[in-house]
Amino acid sequence: MYNETVMDHFSNPRNVGVIEDADAVGEVGSPSCGDTTKVFLKVKDGKIVDIKFQTLGCAAAIASSSMLTEMAKGKTLEEAMKITRDEVAESLGGLPEKKLHCSNLAADALRKAIENYYNKHKIDWV
Ligand SMILES: [Zn+2]
Repeated sequence: MYNETVMDHFSNPRNVGVIEDADAVGEVGSPSCGDTTKVFLKVKDGKIVDIKFQTLGCAAAIASSSMLTEMAKGKTLEEAMKITRDEVAESLGGLPEKKLHCSNLAADALRKAIENYYNKHKIDWV
């Protein structure tokens, strides 16, 4: 059902955990299958210097969160904001159609975390 890249990120997820003194946190849940993802950000000079995630969910949700953190690390908030759900799934080499909604959580949680950061620092964003 899953390709090798997905299985690799699922069985050996990158950047799992919590950042205790995170600058921003974003959490989303999927009502359809009960997966939840929480993303923690450490931001310095507008850049994501550290990112960790906690995901309760299926292989697709966990692999997507892992891939997303790899994609977002080192990027500016502006760049990270542009990471799409599709890009995450593509970077994983594709996911089964019915699992795409699980992979969407990762990009959504990151966006929420960035919004959280912008709101905290009263930065205008579009
Ligand atoms: Zn799921």
